[in-house]
Amino acid sequence: MKQLNTKCEKCPDLVHSRKLYPFGKPTWGYGKSPCEIIFIGEAPGKWGCGVTGIPFTKDRSGQFFQECLAACGLTKEDVYVTNIVKCCPENNRTPYPTEVTNCEKYLTQEIEEVNPTYIIPLGAPATHFFIAGGMKILVAGVYEWEERIILPLYHPAYALRMGGMKEYKEDFKFRIQMIQQLEGKL
Ligand code: URA
Repeated sequence: MKQLNTKCEKCPDLVHSRKLYPFGKPTWGYGKSPCEIIFIGEAPGKWGCGVTGIPFTKDRSGQFFQECLAACGLTKEDVYVTNIVKCCPENNRTPYPTEVTNCEKYLTQEIEEVNPTYIIPLGAPATHFFIAGGMKILVAGVYEWEERIILPLYHPAYALRMGGMKEYKEDFKFRIQMIQQLEGKL
């Protein structure tokens, strides 16, 4: 995997905010590469990836994400997990569209290297990187982007906030089982 430019200074706010959290620098994705499945979140969480440097670890949404993987018999080592924006925004604010654009080349580089058949964007900012539209409709569908299959899901933090964890885990399992069936692994 090519290395991320840890000195990137394209986004003034993020250059400042990433230093507020213990990891202190841009975070690359984590997991198996190449890999059939890539999960893409929003940006490092301040008490999760912002501490460990590994997307979806340590904080509540990271733990819940890993519980969802475990419900499918998977661990974070069986898939590849990254974020559209690589630096931790202050107080977990949603990244600005300009920040997503500035970070785009890192994400596309990761996608090329991981070479997934299936992309699972988690939440609206990651989903809208690939396709436009309201999340309520998008999470029920299957889409194509540059010859890869896009299966959007809500962000785990949204399920935690709305108290819909059981349903979320079922939707998550449904997506993975769909992939396993398509790949002839069930
Ligand atoms: N942790 C991450 O790495 N990404 C998110 O989108 C949320 C929490």
